[in-house]
Amino acid sequence: MHADTLILGGGAAGFFAAIRIAERRPGGRVTILERGRSVLEKVRISGGGRCNVTHACWEPKELVKFYPRGGRELLGPFHKFACGDTMGWFADRGVELKIEEDGRIFPVSDDSRTIVDCLWGEARRLGIGVVTGTRVTRILAPAPRRPDAAPSWTVEAGDQRFSADTLVVTTGSNPAVWKLLAELGHTIVPPVPSLFALNIKDARLAGLAGISLPWAAVRATGDGLSAEGPLLVTHRGLSGPAILRLSAWGARHLHPRGYAFEVAVNWLARRTTDVFEELARARDDRSRQQMSTRSPVELPARLWQSLVRAAEIPEDQQWAQLSNAQLRRLAEELTDGRYRVTGKATNKDEFTTAGGVDLREVDFRHFRSKHYPTLYLAGEVLDIDAITGGFNFQAAWTGGWLIGEAMDAREAD
Ligand SMILES: Cc1cc2nc3c(=O)[nH]c(=O)nc-3n(C[C@H](O)[C@H](O)[C@H](O)COP(=O)(O)OP(=O)(O)OC[C@H]3O[C@@H](n4cnc5c(N)ncnc54)[C@H](O)[C@@H]3O)c2cc1C
Repeated sequence: MHADTLILGGGAAGFFAAIRIAERRPGGRVTILERGRSVLEKVRISGGGRCNVTHACWEPKELVKFYPRGGRELLGPFHKFACGDTMGWFADRGVELKIEEDGRIFPVSDDSRTIVDCLWGEARRLGIGVVTGTRVTRILAPAPRRPDAAPSWTVEAGDQRFSADTLVVTTGSNPAVWKLLAELGHTIVPPVPSLFALNIKDARLAGLAGISLPWAAVRATGDGLSAEGPLLVTHRGLSGPAILRLSAWGARHLHPRGYAFEVAVNWLARRTTDVFEELARARDDRSRQQMSTRSPVELPARLWQSLVRAAEIPEDQQWAQLSNAQLRRLAEELTDGRYRVTGKATNKDEFTTAGGVDLREVDFRHFRSKHYPTLYLAGEVLDIDAITGGFNFQAAWTGGWLIGEAMDAREAD
């Protein structure tokens, strides 16, 4: 079967590219090859089934700060298609989106099927071919790169053969396809997990699973790596946006260390001296009260009690009896508690992978391979990833869109 454009992978980036290409080249044959039985599976399960489509961040310069890998390269593309454009794109197709308090953007329906249906509907309207159950196992580059090769791309999926003038690879984080791309001459940055929770066995956290803090700061000691955000105590350690952010920024250097490191937790995201002063004021104001009963700082009671214990302050001690040394220890527990991380939590919290096609080999004006003028790459197949919040999809939408934009540009070359 021959198509003008073959898209490998029916995910977010693949659909967005296919739709924009079909819009730009009416009458051209665009076909998506998908290994799964259904397409857009990750969109369907994303955001807890609600699909966090993008983020309310309108400044490209600010937006790129959410990408531990790929931020620099995405700056130009975000000037052409970013979060506001994504909102407009869906609105134009009848999908209402809403902005939540923390900036995350979801469909008003709170149902990812709204997004899946919209993308499917557009693909159908534009006559895009979708072939499921087709796992690509071989990619052969066209001549003139290989003089013995066919004039167009050849793609094999088991015993099926496809050919195309233009090839778009949007297969996400699939090592098998990275291997095929490496065979084509692309460098693959080895994949490592990103966005994971931390395993910590520590008496201070025992029995506190489920407790969450609205804003905390965490730091990998000795690494210069830090992050802030909501924090969650789990049965196995710590999670929540602050930890996921730390894991994303630290994905590369925490991996070779087997995720064994020390994390400093500032439960209040405040300066130690300020907290010390506040505790000293509480000592004056609450002198006769038993200090473990109620925290003078914003902290869940059980966590407060645990940290008071950790500061070696007896349960029944009154505020008035507190020495400065005890106050200092408590202020440190509250703002700079050290915890030994023994590993990362698997899968459930792991939303993305760092690694993929080396960004130096991609022309980001149109997400085009620098090795082949008719090869395009977008989404997680590239060494681009973001923290949670809708940014990973945004990178996929932007890449897909700009690939579509290239079609006319290429004809004009
Ligand atoms: C549980 C979970 C929740 C998430 N929630 C969010 C969220 O709310 N917001 C957000 O921004 N990001 C979220 N993400 C991340 C987001 O899903 C990805 O960044 C995004 O899907 C990447 O899009 P993509 O098109 O590059 O890859 P994918 O969506 O992974 O699509 C790639 C497609 O290629 C297909 N494929 C792979 N290999 C082959 C092959 N050999 N032949 C044919 N087809 C192949 C795959 O089956 C797949 O359908 C979430 C991720 C997970 C795992």
